[in-house]
Amino acid sequence: MTQDTALSSPHPLLVIYTGGTLGMVESGSGLVPGGDIEARLARALGALSAERRAALPEFEVLAFPDPIDSSAATPREWQRLAAEIAERHRDHPGVVVLHGTDTLAWTASSLAYQLQGVDRPVVVTGAMQPLEADGSDATDNLELALRFAVDPALQEVAIAFGGKLLRGVRARKWLSRDADAFASPNYPLLGERIGMDPILYPEQGLARQQRGAPRFELPDYGPLAEGGVARIVLWPGITARQVAAWLHDPALKGALLEVWGGGNVPEDPELLGVLAEASGQGKLLVAISQCPHGGIDIGHYAAGQGLHTAGVLSADDMTPEAALTKLVHLLAQPLADDERRQRFLARLVGER
Ligand code: ASP
Repeated sequence: MTQDTALSSPHPLLVIYTGGTLGMVESGSGLVPGGDIEARLARALGALSAERRAALPEFEVLAFPDPIDSSAATPREWQRLAAEIAERHRDHPGVVVLHGTDTLAWTASSLAYQLQGVDRPVVVTGAMQPLEADGSDATDNLELALRFAVDPALQEVAIAFGGKLLRGVRARKWLSRDADAFASPNYPLLGERIGMDPILYPEQGLARQQRGAPRFELPDYGPLAEGGVARIVLWPGITARQVAAWLHDPALKGALLEVWGGGNVPEDPELLGVLAEASGQGKLLVAISQCPHGGIDIGHYAAGQGLHTAGVLSADDMTPEAALTKLVHLLAQPLADDERRQRFLARLVGER
């Protein structure tokens, strides 16, 4: 980005382009990730008013050579992205990640666990429409992300989208078409755009003692990406046999169960037996509610007691994205079962 369009700083931000609609172009078979991203970002930002351009920080771009539609992302992509950030972040006041919206909340959640204690902003953003589309949200989101990413008071992984700044590990893609696509159902906003300015709410950020010193954990997610975790959503009529088909898989190391309301499951001894057997084999089973708002309280109803007995842990009010990426993160490390269970229940990065 050139001097006349950016605030001059000895240390530019780092912008990492991983793919997603923001950088997509038309192909014969629909939108596909496009290249030449640096020039395209500069063109889009260059079209902003002089006042808005003057408020932009400088940045340099690292474009992944193989940008993807984020629907193709796996834990391997989460690992690769965290490794890039871990290696390069010290040379930059903050990092912006350009990512597809479909699995953006999963990536942001995973980054939060891998980059624990990060002492500068890591802001993930994307867009519902490509940079060059008429009325696109891409430039606004990029501008917001860049401006939040130079605020030293932001020291965690966040998502800038649709005028809002959300904690990465609390956010979900909520709307499939609207520009205001992301929500944080169980945690307040970290900031938002008011007028043209990004306003951070520091009291919502991770407190210093909670954040701790940078202590990145970058385990190899490769083995877990081979079917090591599953997400099982209950429905009325689900059978023990169906759950067993997931849990008996020898490759499976842990599973997220999405149960009823406040933490209930069918009182089916066979089903509970399957859960208990998997727990007994050292598989880490955790539960959240299918309700997007609120947490669970396993055992409040008799219909939930079985989860306790089967050794299923409460993921309380975590999002499915936060709970599953935490499973991947903990199962990828050589921890004793007890410690892994304790760490799942602990609040590592403000995820619960
Ligand atoms: N399929 C796209 C992606 O996730 C959607 C988007 O970016 O909005 O990469």
